[in-house]
Amino acid sequence: MEQIIHMNDLSVFRINQTGYAAGLPVCISYLGEGTVHLTDHSGNTIRKITCPRSPVDKASGDPVSVLNLGFLPEGRYKLESNGFSRNISVSQNPWQSVMEMMAKGLYFQRCGCDLKKEFAGIYAHPACHTAPAADWENRETVRLVTGGWHDAGDYGKYVGPGAVTVGHLLYAWKLFPDSFSRLLNIPESGNGIPDVLNEARYELDWILKMQRPDGAFYHKLTKDHFAPFIMPQDDTDPEYLIPVSHCATAAACACLALASRVFRDYDLDFSGNALAAALRGWKWLEGNPDFIPFRNPEGVRTGWYGERTDSDDRFWAACELFAATGENAFREAAEELYQDGQNLTQFGWADVGGMGALCCLFDLREKAGTILYSRMKSEFLRQSENALILSSASGYGTSLSPDHYVWGSILPIMANAISMIINYMLTGREDMRDAALLQWHYALGMNALDLCFVTGMGEKSVMHPHHRPSGSDGIDAPVPGLIVGGPNKCFPYPVHRERLGEDLPPAKYYLDELPSADTNEIAIYWNSPTIFVGAFFIMFSHFR
Ligand SMILES: [Zn+2]
Repeated sequence: MEQIIHMNDLSVFRINQTGYAAGLPVCISYLGEGTVHLTDHSGNTIRKITCPRSPVDKASGDPVSVLNLGFLPEGRYKLESNGFSRNISVSQNPWQSVMEMMAKGLYFQRCGCDLKKEFAGIYAHPACHTAPAADWENRETVRLVTGGWHDAGDYGKYVGPGAVTVGHLLYAWKLFPDSFSRLLNIPESGNGIPDVLNEARYELDWILKMQRPDGAFYHKLTKDHFAPFIMPQDDTDPEYLIPVSHCATAAACACLALASRVFRDYDLDFSGNALAAALRGWKWLEGNPDFIPFRNPEGVRTGWYGERTDSDDRFWAACELFAATGENAFREAAEELYQDGQNLTQFGWADVGGMGALCCLFDLREKAGTILYSRMKSEFLRQSENALILSSASGYGTSLSPDHYVWGSILPIMANAISMIINYMLTGREDMRDAALLQWHYALGMNALDLCFVTGMGEKSVMHPHHRPSGSDGIDAPVPGLIVGGPNKCFPYPVHRERLGEDLPPAKYYLDELPSADTNEIAIYWNSPTIFVGAFFIMFSHFR
């Protein structure tokens, strides 16, 4: 028990700090050995579980296991063991507001408009980044390209990351529409369009502006350097349209083709414009078949977002264009790209093969044909097994191998959750669904740091995210509803590696400190897959 007494500021229980749902099994993490008593609010013992000593979890160094308490009716409960106790709550729909806060978190990232008090409360601020921007390579070309979301802790706006963020939101809405029935209190609320689509539209309108007349999309709109920690409206140095790239063009093409389908029922003009832009983007890709990796031009030091291939982005685009137009040429293109080999379980800014899989497996279905449906389905099921294997091997149930705590480790964890959710939707396998749920719990506190990675919720959550508005608005509490990248032992800043040391386990390689972009930055494309996962579990949150 030495290890437990040593860390007496922490409980032996790690929990989802935002509560548990009555319609799903309640799982916690338990460190150590002994008897766990679960009592209800009247002190009646509900469960008494004797746990042998857990093996040491490789990623965290903790002796820890996931303890499944089964289904519990609504109420407040107390966990007790070895002199430690912790309260948990079970309710009918605990994660509706959690997911909505994360969707609203994207509103707080809006650029080019003032965040009004009625929507933003104490985080209101005047409009930022409203000046026209010059083309980096051709300075006399100046365009007004306002709007979109600030990408992350910085004020840059990047097409590829924005496109996949929109993709997560649109598929979350397509697959789990009932989870988005409430208003988010954003300027468009009540316009007859679901707010998750209104929020996505804010980014889509900006992505449309990022298209060059020849069909290509600029890679990003940023200054030549990152701003200091100042409010966005005070960041007035010029922004530039930084050269076009294959990946940005293909990702924009995919998300606009998807948007053209989603918005067909709400705004026919916008839907048509989005499809036309996607088709122009595809034409440019056809005329520029040889992939050229994006590099920051000399003198530009903002986010790189470089990729080794555009095959996955083209694959997603071809799937979406086939779904949007029904034209066989796009199916053939998608089949060819698929047969080049795609990782169907990737849903991040760099690898988007999974987004193409969502299109084929849930929208096109049999219409996609044997290769893109039957074959892809079995390959998807095979590839997604790995997520479950990783979760089962972890003491916290976290679907990440100990040597893969990368910069933004929340992304592979949420991508694995999405993979397992898709597997469940295709097979009905509850082991997949329940392991996916452990990833949601990870994000909200059931982890080696006993920390809720989303700002503004939970008993103990991130307080000092690497996020310029949170660091410069003079308000103690950070902007709410933003998830941080989390532990990163693969690529920490050298100064942090020195401080944390080589021996600290990867799942604890984290600093809740403002300068720690390497572990504590927020990003729109970390919020969005988490929103997808939350939207799925909201469907099960009611006890039936
Ligand atoms: Zn801005």
